[in-house]
Amino acid sequence: MKNEKCKIKNKIRDEIQRIVKGEVKFAEPMSRHTSFNIGGPADCLIAPQDIEDIRKIILFSRKRKLPLRVMGQGTNLLVRDKGVREIVIKLGKGFEGIKFSGDHLLAGAAVRLSTLIKLAASKGLGGLEFAVGIPGSLGGAVATNAGTGSLSISQRLMSIRVMSEEGRVKDLGAKDLNFGYRRCPLGKDSIILDARLRLERAKEEEILKRMNTFLEKREKTQPLGAANAGCIFKNPDPKTPAARLIEETGLKGKRIGRAVVSKVHANFILNLGRARAEDVLTLMEAIKEEVKGKTGIDLEPEIEIWGED
Ligand SMILES: Cc1cc2nc3c(=O)[nH]c(=O)nc-3n(C[C@H](O)[C@H](O)[C@H](O)COP(=O)(O)OP(=O)(O)OC[C@H]3O[C@@H](n4cnc5c(N)ncnc54)[C@H](O)[C@@H]3O)c2cc1C
Repeated sequence: MKNEKCKIKNKIRDEIQRIVKGEVKFAEPMSRHTSFNIGGPADCLIAPQDIEDIRKIILFSRKRKLPLRVMGQGTNLLVRDKGVREIVIKLGKGFEGIKFSGDHLLAGAAVRLSTLIKLAASKGLGGLEFAVGIPGSLGGAVATNAGTGSLSISQRLMSIRVMSEEGRVKDLGAKDLNFGYRRCPLGKDSIILDARLRLERAKEEEILKRMNTFLEKREKTQPLGAANAGCIFKNPDPKTPAARLIEETGLKGKRIGRAVVSKVHANFILNLGRARAEDVLTLMEAIKEEVKGKTGIDLEPEIEIWGED
């Protein structure tokens, strides 16, 4: 492997491949796994086949003192250019089951939110329309408490099943979890396996109508086409959207390297093609500085930044 800092030596690679049934990739470009299309190589990226695979990876990483990270669809991530030294677990097939029971559903963490919303609508179950157009997986949505306006996924959540850092499966009731704005109280080491949601009975056409209203708004206010990771910064408070603060600094259209502040939505940074994480990070710093200088407000990233400096 070219990266001399890679902690995963050949012996360890063989061991990983021996214990895991799912697909294992080494030096895998994270640009292939993020909606930003940005990111250097992950030393090791594992797509576990089932819960047992996850348990084995967790126990192995503890034994070898190799930290782990878990990802869904990579739609809220900026991975640095030097890549990721932790083992990355990417949930996919094997975590995509969906079961309906009355007005509840139980879905695997890798199910795409868009698939879930459409399927629920076809069964006359609504309540997730607000999330239409949010890309990514259910696990990622719970882990970031994804949402729009005052609505977020935690409001629909009954319980989640997680695997702890000791490799134990735990059921956690949503009431005992203190979700906040784009914040989930789980530690970084808990892996969400599935989630149970409570929806509302409604006519399919009414649900589809509400979905269309949310989608139309999104299409009018968000850039289409170029790779991005959604909103870059959190809103400092509901009445002060980060996009407005950035727009007021006049930074729309500002470009560094191959990254540019969207002219449609100032809180989006677009990858014009072959952008480096460094371009995005420099642009983020410029935005933070301008906003701080003009308003005194410290913008906090909404996207998660992974990888080696
Ligand atoms: C065009 C666009 C529009 C967007 N609009 C919105 C929006 O309106 N509202 C909004 O909230 N977000 C929005 N986002 C951001 C993003 O889509 C959400 O945060 C999404 O829920 C992330 O899901 P993911 O599967 O891609 O997670 P990833 O990006 O892969 O991971 C995000 C975080 O979740 C954690 N995670 C993922 N899966 C698991 C798991 N199984 N167990 C434990 N932790 C896990 C990761 O460790 C990481 O911390 C948008 C993004 C894009 C690109």
